[in-house]
Amino acid sequence: MKSRLMKLSILIFIASCLIILISCIVQLVFKRDIVIAMGGLNTVIDEDTFTRQRKRMVEEQIAYRGVTDKGVLEAMGTVPRHLFIPEENRSYSYYDQPVPIGFGQTISQPYIVAFMTELLKLGKDDVVLEVGTGSGYQAAILSKLVKQVYTIEIIEGLGKEAARRLKAMSYNNVEVKVGDGYKGWPEHAPFDAIIVTAAAEHIPQPLIDQLKPGGRLIIPVGGVYEVQDLMLITKDASSKVVKESIIPVRFVPLIRK
Ligand code: SAH
Repeated sequence: MKSRLMKLSILIFIASCLIILISCIVQLVFKRDIVIAMGGLNTVIDEDTFTRQRKRMVEEQIAYRGVTDKGVLEAMGTVPRHLFIPEENRSYSYYDQPVPIGFGQTISQPYIVAFMTELLKLGKDDVVLEVGTGSGYQAAILSKLVKQVYTIEIIEGLGKEAARRLKAMSYNNVEVKVGDGYKGWPEHAPFDAIIVTAAAEHIPQPLIDQLKPGGRLIIPVGGVYEVQDLMLITKDASSKVVKESIIPVRFVPLIRK
């Protein structure tokens, strides 16, 4: 009986050693991102791995689903999304999903960021308004494509942190304001394009008013925590407004004070 127990303990010991050895080999051979993908481990990931993950994100999540705008693909491939995400969630930065950024808010799924940006049909000389700065990631993407970005965040902690981050990363054509984006930013209006990254119950009239003739507004419209409608609003040269429903989406709500 004793020797049986001994044998069993030795077997368990050898099996544990083998498991440890195999996981070390997996780490070394298949690189850490695969181990993380398998187990969600919150390991410190090096910059090369993030760069590889970002390239894959552009190919497999964004281009694969039909985004073709070269400028958008380039911006998504260049802006280091992981630096906009709190450290505890950083390993999820390039996953095909939204990621929490604190204060109960989320950074949108990469594909949605790219898709909404493409719909704005931006030009190099455009002036753009974003409502819902959050981490500042969408603003950084826009800053690569246009002349000037104005972005408004209602939660002071997020707005201040995003402003600090964007400045430290030299996105010098982005201005952040803490306030209620429902009212737009009349001092800098009219805008060539407006993007709202929180879901509104209805399309805010001030945003339509602050759109230039020929301008485009993209906004999720619908109730809190329901599936919403991503709407594209176009103001033509004669200021006629056309509303179009694009796809169902799910966003955090636009907060009204
Ligand atoms: N675009 C962001 C993610 C947006 S999450 C990014 O790239 O990280 C939506 C953001 O909208 C949240 O940060 C939320 O606080 C903000 N928000 C909600 N209501 C708002 C309002 N009325 N005015 C400005 N920002 C608002």
